[in-house]
Amino acid sequence: MTDRYAVIGNPIAHSKSPFIHGSFAQATGQDIEYSAIEGPPQKFAATVDAFRAAGGKGLNITAPFKLDAFAYATQLSPAAELAGAANAMKFEGDRVLAENFDGVGLVHDVVHNLGHSLRGKRVLLLGAGGAARGALLPFLAQVPAELVIANRTVEKALELARIGESRGQVRGCGYDALLGERFDMVFNATSASLRAELPAVPAGVFSSAMLAYELAYGKGLTPFLRLAQGAGVQHLADGVGMLAEQAAEAFAWWRGVRPDTAAVIEKLTIPLA
Ligand code: NDP
Repeated sequence: MTDRYAVIGNPIAHSKSPFIHGSFAQATGQDIEYSAIEGPPQKFAATVDAFRAAGGKGLNITAPFKLDAFAYATQLSPAAELAGAANAMKFEGDRVLAENFDGVGLVHDVVHNLGHSLRGKRVLLLGAGGAARGALLPFLAQVPAELVIANRTVEKALELARIGESRGQVRGCGYDALLGERFDMVFNATSASLRAELPAVPAGVFSSAMLAYELAYGKGLTPFLRLAQGAGVQHLADGVGMLAEQAAEAFAWWRGVRPDTAAVIEKLTIPLA
């Protein structure tokens, strides 16, 4: 029997996950069906119950249900636990395993697809929401010289830095504290770009940066990427590779085979112009 998987979110029509997982299944010869479910607000658990009752094996979870998925799970991975949110679930009888692959997907994209090592680098992470939380441990596992987390609500950056301090060199701050600082890589994990806004990051942070990475994808040159470009950063990237890599991690978790992501990334890439 064909195993069933899906992505659940609201809205969901824009989701690239059915295309991505369909491509992975074809390329790896896995017999799966992958659909998109528009979850009614406040009805996450009932919708997932119904999917499982119909034989569903696993789900990807996107906004606004990542916290609901976290609460629904019976077993959390360390990444899901730290992020306080889940973006993938696997159903095994009564057990609901939850994962969060956003952070490992991001690191995989940066290191393997874009060719930038984080080891020994000064890394700036803007934002302290779900995506930044997911990136914290995977970033520190790469042993940067220092990871600085800056956020509009400073307390959230300080809290994230506290969580990470036993695992590496990490500091939290507000945007003002970045004046006069320089970094090798700057990541925008704020949601400002979704509204064409710019976090209050001083342009000087880019003055010796080799990479500016926008976690949002498909938005072209966002205000963040424009600022980086104007400051002379050579390598600009958006989150399309992260999206494909977190999907590949979920696919491997479910099916035991990690698909190659290059073809999917090429198809989904919108030029940064
Ligand atoms: P959250 O809602 O969890 O967090 C939002 C963050 O953005 C907070 O730190 C918030 O600061 C900050 N923020 C929002 N607006 C502004 C602003 N105008 N100026 C400064 N800071 C701002 O969002 P997520 O963490 O889930 O998502 C963040 C980004 O990552 C989005 O662009 C999303 O599309 C992208 N993403 C990409 C993925 C991929 O696969 N490529 C996967 C997941 C996310 P404060 O705390 O002060 O409110």
